[in-house]
Amino acid sequence: MNEKRDIYLDNSATTRCFLEVAALMNEIFLEDYGNPSSMHHRGVTAERRVAEAKKTLAGILKVRDKNLYFTSCGTESDNLAIIGGALAAQRRGKHLITTVIEHPAVLEAMKHLEAMGFEITRLGVDSDGLVSPEAVAAAVRPDTILVSVMHTNNEIGAVQPIAEIGAAIKAANPATLFHVDAVQGFGKALILPKRMYIDLLAASGHKIHGPKGMGFLYVADGVRLEPILFGGGQQDGLRSGTLNVPGIAGMALAAKMLCSNLDADRENLFAMKNRLIERLGEIPDVCFNGRTDETAAPHILSVRVRGVRAEVLLHALEDKGIYVSAGSACASNRPHLSATLSAIGTPSSEMDNSIRISLSVMNTMEEMDAAADAVAEIVPFLRKFVRR
Ligand code: PLP
Repeated sequence: MNEKRDIYLDNSATTRCFLEVAALMNEIFLEDYGNPSSMHHRGVTAERRVAEAKKTLAGILKVRDKNLYFTSCGTESDNLAIIGGALAAQRRGKHLITTVIEHPAVLEAMKHLEAMGFEITRLGVDSDGLVSPEAVAAAVRPDTILVSVMHTNNEIGAVQPIAEIGAAIKAANPATLFHVDAVQGFGKALILPKRMYIDLLAASGHKIHGPKGMGFLYVADGVRLEPILFGGGQQDGLRSGTLNVPGIAGMALAAKMLCSNLDADRENLFAMKNRLIERLGEIPDVCFNGRTDETAAPHILSVRVRGVRAEVLLHALEDKGIYVSAGSACASNRPHLSATLSAIGTPSSEMDNSIRISLSVMNTMEEMDAAADAVAEIVPFLRKFVRR
């Protein structure tokens, strides 16, 4: 992949930018650097870049341009949807629902609301990490203002039945907003908010070979949000702050490149993931967290290696130029016990035995074989010489 021929298998933490994206951003940094709010020619040119990006993303999601807002990251999109949605709807009720396996961008936003007097119901998942639409529907009450369920889990790659959950929510209470954190799913699966009853959809640029520090939020017609940033009133007053034009254009180009080839890319990712499942599954006492069939995400494989601490395996692989993460690395670099692994019933003695391998379209089948060879070589050694 680069000069040292590292094998980068931590694509759910972040991805390498597409060359075309970096080139476009560079051009905008140097040429179309105007502020889209400026009234002169440079402003108008920058504004045009933003409008084109919006059109691209809206086309992918099959929604209208005016329903998209740009943010600084997936975390901000989640926060704006949840906190902004709750604040705007609090006269109708103060109850929200989420799941125990959400990313901290959702869980911490919920905790913040809880401290402000909102009531939060946190639903569990089954042993595959799946949320049942019936359980969601049963938890919805007349005062439930918002439900947040992630599309693809960042640790084990479980893909939730979003359309079924959306339909169940709306049947139970049509006024309840449905927020979906699609940071790991966007660009890997076809996500159509209108067909899936989604009112608020959050995504991020750096998980799709776009820039870091970029996100967007889809807001359905008629949904009211209170802003969480205050300032110059950009983006209809919902999200103040000068627009990051290179980032916006780069994220939209990355999305276009991924989504125009979605079916072929999914097939390719599943083929690589299946090769890993086959090869790693041959190693004694290795198993996989969550489903390994094609109902799961094509790019995330959570591998449990009994008797080996994930951190030790991660560094041993790193010595060979292979990059993976321990459980989930995208929340912080502090070791933590994973709420997702715990929720799917991982025995406490095996809680720190899982590594996450996450793929992208930049990986190759040769890299899968090299990574599987390395794990097969390292694991017996670690089991023999390194105590847990
Ligand atoms: N949601 C999920 C599921 C994620 O995996 C991540 C990042 O890892 C985020 C939200 C946060 O996105 P960002 O890094 O753009 O803030």
